Amino acid sequence: MPYKILIVEDNANNRGLLWDILVFHGYEVSVATDGQEGVTLARELMPDLILMDIQMPGMDGMTASAVLRGDPATSSLKIIALTSFAMQGDQEKFLAAGFNDYLSKPVNTRELPALIDRWIQGDEHL
Ligand SMILES: [Mg+2]
Repeated sequence: MPYKILIVEDNANNRGLLWDILVFHGYEVSVATDGQEGVTLARELMPDLILMDIQMPGMDGMTASAVLRGDPATSSLKIIALTSFAMQGDQEKFLAAGFNDYLSKPVNTRELPALIDRWIQGDEHL
């Protein structure tokens, strides 16, 4: 069974890039385009990892992560924040908000799979 990764990102170009990288590396990829859809899909799919954009229309990434963290069924999901250049310096804020880690956009095609490996390794499924 391939590992499942959920992308929550409102920008279609970013979604496409992330999708291409993750599918190339053999992951089973699902996408949501805002925080509310992300929460719904996370509950349904229980992915091995979530890549969560911060700035999205409707429910943003901070809120969506707080909702997942606040629900015992999804509180232990691994969530990585996708942060923009403008958020540099705010990284501690994302860790304090409950994200496991963060990744700066534009996403580096080598950095992303390495980061995912680090978070999925040590998982009970391995
Ligand atoms: Mg966005």
